[in-house]
Amino acid sequence: MDGNPSDLTLLLASAQQEIDGLRDDPRMSSLEAGSRGVALRSHVLDLIGAVEYRVAQSPTPSSPEPERRAFARSMRQSILVLRGAHAALPWLEATRRPTLNLGSLYLTEDCARSLVGNDVDLVVVPDPEFMYSTTSWMFSAVVISTPGFVAATTRRPIVLNYPLSDSDRLLLHPIFAHELGHAAVDEHRLVADVEAALDNDPSFVAAFGKAVTDMEALWTAASPTQIAGTVRASLRQWIEELLCDHLAVEALGPAFLWAFSSFVMPLSYGVPAQSHPPNTLRTRLLITHLTERGWRAYLDRAAPNIMSWLDGIAADAASPIAMPYSFLRDQLLAYGQVLRDTALSRAGAHAMSPAEAEVGANEAADLLAETILPNGTHGPLDGRSILLGGWQHAFVEHGDHPGGIVAATRDRQIQELVGKAIEMSVVEQTWTEEA
Ligand SMILES: [Zn+2]
Repeated sequence: MDGNPSDLTLLLASAQQEIDGLRDDPRMSSLEAGSRGVALRSHVLDLIGAVEYRVAQSPTPSSPEPERRAFARSMRQSILVLRGAHAALPWLEATRRPTLNLGSLYLTEDCARSLVGNDVDLVVVPDPEFMYSTTSWMFSAVVISTPGFVAATTRRPIVLNYPLSDSDRLLLHPIFAHELGHAAVDEHRLVADVEAALDNDPSFVAAFGKAVTDMEALWTAASPTQIAGTVRASLRQWIEELLCDHLAVEALGPAFLWAFSSFVMPLSYGVPAQSHPPNTLRTRLLITHLTERGWRAYLDRAAPNIMSWLDGIAADAASPIAMPYSFLRDQLLAYGQVLRDTALSRAGAHAMSPAEAEVGANEAADLLAETILPNGTHGPLDGRSILLGGWQHAFVEHGDHPGGIVAATRDRQIQELVGKAIEMSVVEQTWTEEA
């Protein structure tokens, strides 16, 4: 029986071993105040603190059996999360020696502040195992389920993973803005906002009911409640993914559309999944959003052929797909305005506007055409405009077609110049603000 005296001895020793392993690791040594990784480190210390708080309430061998068994379960959960926390050690190491291009890192931190808020600690690390992905509050399961323990960290730690092969492919890095969208959605409970708007509309409620009835004929082994639960879970995941796309558009404009299509279209075309909407639908909603925000003329001017290719993908969003995905697709197309409004109101004053960005992007593209660092001839250009200008110039260099969009992300020279220019412009702007 778990929770017997030998079991308790094992668990306490094992928990202590995990705690010592974390605490004694040189990568856990303290960081300078204000530097990257401080909140992540403090989150790990909160985890250790919460487990020690639990250990202090350890039952004695003569305590009642239910109490000992409950404690054993709580220790096993703690040990699992403590073992997972060892993953934070290379992340903390990465904050001391960032491998990501500095210009890209500045731009990503700027996105984090606009989309998530000021109180974030961003750690960007390459990971051979992961695609682009993100986690926040990664060890909170134990911290929040330890009644009486008060965590020291309130600053949200965010870890962004990216494929190591993409560390200097700056033109793809707008995907980070989508990843940060996940943290923004979580912090500001944006999925619940969108869901509430849908659920308050009787026509959505009726369509949802009908979808569940239709599904009963297909999923004969499942009850209506189970079907409704499954459809609801997918709905939430699709809303979250689409919101992240829309937030990325508010943060970085067309650069996100181009990075997104270059990265995801080679992986999947119109196949829906439980967790992700088909890329045809994502493309359609992205283009609608960019058009509504005034970017269409710019897109048609910068890369007209790419645009007509993407329009074709968007049109395929209407292709037949299986239930319940067709239901989700139809509803999210119908309620696209809710997604757009939610993203715009989150980005607020940080939303990128075509009128301002286009001038800077043109200037950056002109400078790149002369192989000149595109950080501006009359004062520093905005980093987001430089990135956009980088794409603009890449289409000139590599062609306005799907092959060109791939070749663009392989062009080291453009991406090095863009990264350096963003870095310089941030440094110059900081100087001007401090002067
Ligand atoms: Zn995502």
